Amino acid sequence: MKITNVTLTAMALLTPFLFAEEKGHEGHDHDDHDSATHDDVATIAGPNGGKVFTSTEPHFEFFVTKKRMIRLTFLDKDNKAATPAEGCTASAVSGDRSSPTKMTFTKDGDSLISDKPLPEGKKVPMILQLKSAADADNVTEKLNIDLNSCSTCAHLEYACTCEH
Ligand SMILES: [Zn+2]
Ligand SMILES: [Zn+2]
Repeated sequence: MKITNVTLTAMALLTPFLFAEEKGHEGHDHDDHDSATHDDVATIAGPNGGKVFTSTEPHFEFFVTKKRMIRLTFLDKDNKAATPAEGCTASAVSGDRSSPTKMTFTKDGDSLISDKPLPEGKKVPMILQLKSAADADNVTEKLNIDLNSCSTCAHLEYACTCEH
C-alpha cells in the first residue's frame, strides 16, 4: 500500500473535522462572513442551483450533479453566470475517514469536474481545496454535503436558500 504525503495531509485534515461535525466551522463561519461582506450571497443559489462560495475571487459555485460528481464553476461578479478561470485547480477528500475518497478535478468548459462521484450517503463530509488561478491563494472549504431535499425550496439542503 502506497501512502503519499498528500494522502497523509488530507487524512490529517479530515480526521478532526469528522469528530467535530456538529460544531460548525471553528472561527470561520461562512454565513457570518458572507453577510458581513456580501449582503445577499449567503442566501442565493448559483446558476446550476448549487451553493455559492465567496472565499475565492472570483466566487465559485459548488454543485453536485445527478451522478454525484462535484462541479465547481467560477462566477461573474453577480454570481449569475460562469466565468472563465484560467489556471484554476482543485482537489478534495470526502467520505468516511476509514476509507476516504480522494478526488481530482479536470477542466470541463468553464467548470472543474471531479474524476469520481461522492461516496454513498445523504450527508457526506468533504475537505475541498481550490485555487481560482495559478497564482491565487489556496482556499480550503470544510463541507458537510447534505443531499436531502429541502422541504421548503427547490434545492437540496447543501444549497438551500431558506433561512433555517
Ligand atoms: Zn432547507
Ligand atoms: Zn430551502
